[in-house]
Amino acid sequence: MAIIRHPDIRRMLMQMRSQVEAMRALAYSVAAAHDAAARHPDAAQRAQNQAYVDLMIPVVKGWSTENGNTLSYLGVQVFGGMGFVEEAGAAQFMRDARITTIYEGTTGIQANDLMGRKIAREGGATIKSVIGMMEQTRAEVSKQAGPAFVALAAALGRGIDALKQATDYIVANYGKDVRSVAVGAVPFLRLMGIVSGGWMMARAALVAEGKIAAGDADPFYPAKIATAHFYAEHAMSEAAGLAQEVVQGGASALALDEAMF
Ligand SMILES: Cc1cc2nc3c(=O)[nH]c(=O)nc-3n(C[C@H](O)[C@H](O)[C@H](O)COP(=O)(O)OP(=O)(O)OC[C@H]3O[C@@H](n4cnc5c(N)ncnc54)[C@H](O)[C@@H]3O)c2cc1C
Repeated sequence: MAIIRHPDIRRMLMQMRSQVEAMRALAYSVAAAHDAAARHPDAAQRAQNQAYVDLMIPVVKGWSTENGNTLSYLGVQVFGGMGFVEEAGAAQFMRDARITTIYEGTTGIQANDLMGRKIAREGGATIKSVIGMMEQTRAEVSKQAGPAFVALAAALGRGIDALKQATDYIVANYGKDVRSVAVGAVPFLRLMGIVSGGWMMARAALVAEGKIAAGDADPFYPAKIATAHFYAEHAMSEAAGLAQEVVQGGASALALDEAMF
């Protein structure tokens, strides 16, 4: 039987497809904001776009490179033993991905930048305005019918709540106990990536729905909605756990004496 007919293979392929689409969409949104930050005729718009770029750059770098490792690992798993040996080429992608979380700033440094310089230092002002944009998208998604949009609205709601909870904790505690808060820097970066990715997939699904409603029969559009549906039910389910890790996980990570390692 062709391996694509196994449910677990389909899950892995959908995980790869949905995450790649979410990461690409987030990177494009930051690239577009980068252009607007440089060229928009209105100074307030330039400043707003620059703030979005500054907030999101560590997310695009850190979340996408960590995910690249997970997804290239899955690429090997999809091919089984043929993935591990060289003929399929999948193992080479996995090796190539491994350096990306190290050079040009390790994930830990990207996450510190996000939490410290981009959030705590300005009291969370930019991230709160981005969460406001996510809430607007969620309201749009809630007006649509069908199981994909119901799942997207619910997942986005839970993701936004998790992001708010973790952001409030960082803003309130960074100045008081920076070491405990910094334990949660990488989980927070992942939380931010997952929820921002869900926001992008929701925006893409809304555009796709509009195209379908206008009579466009391109199968790209229903596939986009199905992929966003998968992302909502699989990727977004991690958000609440990551917020809990950020808010509660500091003390246990720092509890052991250095000599015990
Ligand atoms: C193949 C390759 C190509 C490279 N190419 C270039 C290049 O072209 N130009 C260039 O400038 N550099 C390059 N580098 C260097 C690269 O930028 C560094 O390897 C990278 O910045 C990590 O620094 P480090 O290796 O000294 O690790 P360290 O800084 O020692 O980090 C080790 C671990 O500690 C963590 N860590 C360190 N400081 C902190 C902190 N303050 N808070 C929390 N965690 C922390 C890190 O996240 C990491 O997990 C390259 C490296 C490699 C391997």
